[in-house]
Amino acid sequence: MIAAADFNITKAEHSKLNDINLENIPFGKYFTDHMLEVDYEDGEWKVAEIKPYQPLLLSPSLAALHYGQAIFEGVKAYKDSEGNAAIFRPMDNFRRFNISAERMQMPQVPEDIFMEGMRQLVQMDSKWIPEQKDHSLYIRPFMFSSDEMIGVRPSEKYKFMIILSPTGPYYVEPMRIYVEEKYVRAVPGGIGYAKAAGNYGSAMYATAQARKIGYDQVLWTDAFEHKYVQECGTMNVFFIIGNTAITPELEQGTILAGVTRDSAIMILRDMGYQVEERALGIDEIIDAHKAGTLKEVFGTGTAATISLIKELKYKEYVMQFPIEQWTAAPALKDRMNAIRYGQEPDVYGWMYKI
Ligand SMILES: *Cc1c(COP(=O)(O)O)cnc(C)c1O
Repeated sequence: MIAAADFNITKAEHSKLNDINLENIPFGKYFTDHMLEVDYEDGEWKVAEIKPYQPLLLSPSLAALHYGQAIFEGVKAYKDSEGNAAIFRPMDNFRRFNISAERMQMPQVPEDIFMEGMRQLVQMDSKWIPEQKDHSLYIRPFMFSSDEMIGVRPSEKYKFMIILSPTGPYYVEPMRIYVEEKYVRAVPGGIGYAKAAGNYGSAMYATAQARKIGYDQVLWTDAFEHKYVQECGTMNVFFIIGNTAITPELEQGTILAGVTRDSAIMILRDMGYQVEERALGIDEIIDAHKAGTLKEVFGTGTAATISLIKELKYKEYVMQFPIEQWTAAPALKDRMNAIRYGQEPDVYGWMYKI
């Protein structure tokens, strides 16, 4: 591990914290006093800087703005009732970040910079981790190409940064979901498994179309038959049929391997559910619905943890679910939160103390 001396640290003169009420703040709107910034140049990472949060000065020819070599992560830090701070499974985000980097022909970020940089930054701004129930500090590591030249080729320069945003309960109303049959998010061989900025930009049009007809999000299906489900918006998706929780498998490379997804699989198994990671066709979902065995449907992701799905529309077939009778998804969410806020022992070793 790199020692503290290897980071170039400049402290903010004044904390903005005094001007902000951390209660019920909206997601992603306020940022803490400091940020981490490090440049990649001439084939190596320079000394990482932790400095006051500030705007960047960028050239209009910045490669990332034109050709989209840009990736990110989403991680959260929590405080327990004694005020101890811990980050939820950051090593998993670190590994995934470098998988995204490889796919986008970007350099690997060393563990010392990603993990130790995150730890030091969060420690410096730990007063910003809200202590209220269901609040947390959202951590956003990201990297983009920073060559100042508009030629189509992998950039030679990159910038890796981490910014922090305190956030209130990210409550998502139970969602009405439109099963997408025209637009696609990911294809085998594509970048669906990478947390790349372009995956988000390219999803917005389809989501807007679904909103126009009263739905909150789309359920993406495979590109060839529009039959096999992939993800729900920017969340992984689970269907509980009978006593089995089914979520699409990762092998096709069309699914983002969510850390919340992985955590949900472990907790569901420990709760006594069978969990299957496999192809799940919409016909199987409809058959289960008709047979009365389709129990619960929900999305998983760092921002909201678990989002209930109360309605699914596939062509003219609309499925509505009695979410107030559900037990698995609420119990799963409670267990995950209990671990995060230190109310239950961290039996899985998920909390990274800072
Ligand atoms: C980030 C993301 C998820 C959720 O991943 P978590 O690690 O659980 O936050 C799911 N799908 C997509 C497309 C994502 O970008």
